[in-house]
Amino acid sequence: MSKQIPVIEEILSANDLIALENRKLLDAHGVLAVNIMASPGAGKTSVILRAIESLRGRLRIGVIEGDVAGRVDADKVAQTGTPVVQINTGGGCHLDAPQVQSALRQLPLSEIDLLFIENVGNLICPTGFALGDHLKLMVASVPEGHDKPLKYPGMFTVVDALLLNKIDLMPYLDFDLDAFRTAVRALNAEAPLFEVSCKTGAGIEDWVEWLIRQCS
Ligand code: MG
Ligand code: ZN
Repeated sequence: MSKQIPVIEEILSANDLIALENRKLLDAHGVLAVNIMASPGAGKTSVILRAIESLRGRLRIGVIEGDVAGRVDADKVAQTGTPVVQINTGGGCHLDAPQVQSALRQLPLSEIDLLFIENVGNLICPTGFALGDHLKLMVASVPEGHDKPLKYPGMFTVVDALLLNKIDLMPYLDFDLDAFRTAVRALNAEAPLFEVSCKTGAGIEDWVEWLIRQCS
């Protein structure tokens, strides 16, 4: 058993080294990278599409789409004319730095100001793998329930900003917004919480203004 521990540490540090290379490459091109994490179906791709729409003419966007399989989300992004690379993890439940490195090689980095890295839908292990991103953002959503911060504290703790998506569904569901806000604040006193609806566009502009401030 004891022999296995150093092997795991080597794998993790190899990932961290490549994440550092990714960060250097992004910095050399003046690209701010945002790692977007959420459970499946919370609306990661929808918030990216809303940002692309809102930031048109203000910031140049690029996207890396991480999914277990398929290129449904990358096709949606490509339809907007935004440079996008799809990573298929083939069963892997998170993105890692080597995957992002190969995606960065396929993007026109000198033509990108803000890069969204959409992680695989998963609330647990994406936080354990450095990618080289500058900011971590979590998308929670109303149908998931207000108790998610209590059940998955790790991700809520490490992120730099939070979006609560699908607030248009609030009248139809027993979502306790005050309880959600209190639970988030107990874990993360600093990260701004943007309450948004990709369906109606509510709250999107506040989040987009925050993104612009991070880039400047
Ligand atoms: Mg998606
Ligand atoms: Zn994983």
